Amino acid sequence: MSIQERIPMREQAPEERVKNFKSVPLGYSAKEAVSEAKRCLQCKNPLCEVGCPVRMKIKTIINYIANEDYKAAFLLSKADNAVPAITGRVCPQENQCEGKCILEKQNKAINIGKLFAFVADWAQENNVVENLQINENGKKVAIVGAGPAGITCAVDLRKLGYKVSLFEALHMAGGVLQYGIPPFRLPRDVVDYELSFLEKIGVEVKLNSIVGQNVDFENLKKEYDAIYLATGAGAPKFLNCAGEKLKGVYSANEFLIRVNLMKAYKFPKWDTPIICGDKVGIIGCGNVALDSARCAKRLGAKEVYILYRRTKKYAPARVEEIHHAEEEGIIFKEMVAPCKMTGTDEGWVNGIQLMKTKFKGVDKSGRERPVNVENSEHVFELDTVVNALGTTPNRLFLSKVPELDTYNWGGIKTNDNFMTNIDGVFAGGDALTGGSTVIEAMGDGRNAADAIHEYIS
Ligand SMILES: Cc1cc2nc3c(=O)[nH]c(=O)nc-3n(C[C@H](O)[C@H](O)[C@H](O)COP(=O)(O)OP(=O)(O)OC[C@H]3O[C@@H](n4cnc5c(N)ncnc54)[C@H](O)[C@@H]3O)c2cc1C
Repeated sequence: MSIQERIPMREQAPEERVKNFKSVPLGYSAKEAVSEAKRCLQCKNPLCEVGCPVRMKIKTIINYIANEDYKAAFLLSKADNAVPAITGRVCPQENQCEGKCILEKQNKAINIGKLFAFVADWAQENNVVENLQINENGKKVAIVGAGPAGITCAVDLRKLGYKVSLFEALHMAGGVLQYGIPPFRLPRDVVDYELSFLEKIGVEVKLNSIVGQNVDFENLKKEYDAIYLATGAGAPKFLNCAGEKLKGVYSANEFLIRVNLMKAYKFPKWDTPIICGDKVGIIGCGNVALDSARCAKRLGAKEVYILYRRTKKYAPARVEEIHHAEEEGIIFKEMVAPCKMTGTDEGWVNGIQLMKTKFKGVDKSGRERPVNVENSEHVFELDTVVNALGTTPNRLFLSKVPELDTYNWGGIKTNDNFMTNIDGVFAGGDALTGGSTVIEAMGDGRNAADAIHEYIS
């Protein structure tokens, strides 16, 4: 039987979209969504569901869409996923649900992410919301960090009747969804709408509340029946090489926070400045690197290079993002490793010294291991460098709770029930695993909510 091709997603044309920060995909129409859903084989044992960390009933949801029952599709998505409009847009589906789809063997996996985004957007346009009957149980849980892990845990516990207070250091909830992922991948009206659900169901969101600084951790332990730490991994890793402190060298965290959270792309309407030159080099090839590269392009850089020590075949970034970056003219300079930055007498970066790499053996991740080629140093001229080597948990918070057991690299240790060595204090998301994915963090949040419920009950 020949399988019909995926229904293509309409998108802003590359030459247009590099001039704005609006969503690249334009979303399925109802007719397109139904046609895409009808391609689903409705497998007896749906492998797509095995790949979903929040346990969504993917097969049934798709069947509802195929039958144009969008309301039922939405309510079933929302039962397991607090923010389906967000995960539909940013999940690396190729490694999860879509990667497991039986049609993937022919490169024609159902476009599950875009279908779920369609359904969630439809619900917003038609004012369809989950109508929850919450039976208060009189117990209180504090959640530290309002990123995907904290939000998911908050929603699940609230549905079980807990009084939930969500403490967030920043002036907005969302974590990386708000300060990291750019609006052309995740429009902010989508994030705002999804998060408005928290207050609708009675989660108390306490912004500008830094636990360990202006909120005392010991008091939380006294006031609440349990605490969930979902503080993420927001501290950048550095190369620790010469020239890294030159002007024009950013960590990806700073670059993306300026652009996305502090709206530097709207300067001078917004008052956050950002200096982005004509020739920009981004070190790394994960989602963070590609987001930085695509932001630099939109800020007006003429040439933007991804500097990567492997080939893009091994890149951790989402396939869709690599494809979009290439369409937008981002240049991939593969098999190079940075050694140091060079600068002008005035202290501005003007280049980066690179070494060529070659593959030798395989590393822990199962990927080819890059090693530097001797005597291959060469300087590559640039006027802005963004270091996107990855992130680690925030040490400042950990330093305020020295009794908390952590790994040397900063990850919080827990037992199989997600509880730390402190009784009643649980942890999850990137704070536990290091930089991961939105849906993995949400899966952690769900599992922790179950464990907290069991602990308190
Ligand atoms: C630029 C970028 C792009 C990404 N792209 C993708 C993608 O396309 N798809 C994908 O699946 N994943 C992506 N990721 C990874 C994903 O966003 C993270 O894995 C996920 O957000 C982790 O969720 P979290 O809740 O554990 O932490 P976070 O999202 O980091 O949230 C933690 C929250 O805790 C708050 N906090 C920290 N300390 C305190 C404190 N002491 N008191 C109170 N609040 C505190 C922080 O302010 C933050 O809001 C990306 C990450 C980045 C940085």
